[in-house]
Amino acid sequence: MSTTPNAAGLAPATLTVAAGRPARVQGGHINPPIPLSSTFVSQGVVTPDELSYARGDTDAWHPFEHALAALECRGGSDGETPGQAIVFGSGMAAIAAVFSLLPDGGTLVLPRHAYQAGMVLANEVSARHGVTLRHVDIADTDAVVAALDGADLLLVESPTNPMLEVADLPAVLGAARARGVRSVVDNTFATPLGQQPLLHGADIVLHSVTKYLAGHSDVVLGALVTRDAELATTLRGHRTLHGAIAGPFEVWLALRGLRTLALRFERAQANAAELVRRLADHPEVAEVRHPSLPGDPGHERAKAQMNGFGAIIGVRPRERAGVGPVERADAVVDAVRLWLPATSLGGVESMLERRRRWGTEAQTVPEDLLRLSVGIEDVEDLWADLDQALRA
Ligand SMILES: *Cc1c(COP(=O)(O)O)cnc(C)c1O
Repeated sequence: MSTTPNAAGLAPATLTVAAGRPARVQGGHINPPIPLSSTFVSQGVVTPDELSYARGDTDAWHPFEHALAALECRGGSDGETPGQAIVFGSGMAAIAAVFSLLPDGGTLVLPRHAYQAGMVLANEVSARHGVTLRHVDIADTDAVVAALDGADLLLVESPTNPMLEVADLPAVLGAARARGVRSVVDNTFATPLGQQPLLHGADIVLHSVTKYLAGHSDVVLGALVTRDAELATTLRGHRTLHGAIAGPFEVWLALRGLRTLALRFERAQANAAELVRRLADHPEVAEVRHPSLPGDPGHERAKAQMNGFGAIIGVRPRERAGVGPVERADAVVDAVRLWLPATSLGGVESMLERRRRWGTEAQTVPEDLLRLSVGIEDVEDLWADLDQALRA
């Protein structure tokens, strides 16, 4: 049984530390143990909240699920509704569970720019189940609302991966709700400290826990959060039947990572904002994308609905005579010494990659766009390395 003392009144940074602890008993553990049972003592009729077999449920998941639910569901007028988090073996397993809510022949509204493997899965669901895909510019509220007519599910990413477009969350989620269209927000980039989509009317929040929540580039995990108990039962049922489950060690590491989320994310966001300011004036940079820039199309929205602007930056190097844009961007990645050339994001270590090196990335993403995931290193070291790589 995991607990959160006075959850209602606690600030998010406190919740990341205090939520999901074992019950306070003399001589008890302050951290949850890692339970390693594939099955549990049980006989006769088993009630839904009894443990019986670890593909269906295990107490290895509960402390992390409890802490994530406390973070995503904090505040709000219906603060009484506890909300539930459901951990999955990966972010993609969580996306697959959400897509399973689509009826055959149904309609999915989704961003034209979004996490690419999710887009690939949407195409597969479309081909196999006759689901109509309506791709929209998620920052164009009128276009999103128009696409909702007769739809079954709205998938939102904000800021989007990798273009960093910002959706008007209250407007698009409110419109979906008013039309009876279920909505899911991928909150991986913003984290529950950066924004709380459930407060803006989302039915489900999705996370690649792999990224900021775990935060150390050492586990692959996903999660869904919802206040709708019936929906939670359906999604949990999908996890059980498809076996999309997380291992006890990984979930323990995710909770261990979550304990420092507030510090890590604060530092990463501060580093990112400083790098963005400097990159905007850099002679070797053609374009910087980040909602912190006053001229960024998402700036005002991000200010209104987010706490901070996130720590992912888009950069296009200035072209050089005789060098193609792809070659030029690849040369910057080749030249870094501290930044890690790698895919993924949200770890303590700064990483960058040219997104279009993946054949599945949307063709409307510029070929030379570098996605930078800013970590928690000293900002001067990060700047020095980036600066020399851009000039190399
Ligand atoms: C990485 C990522 C995913 C997929 O999560 P995995 O844990 O890699 O399966 C989904 N959405 C976003 C925004 C991501 O960055």
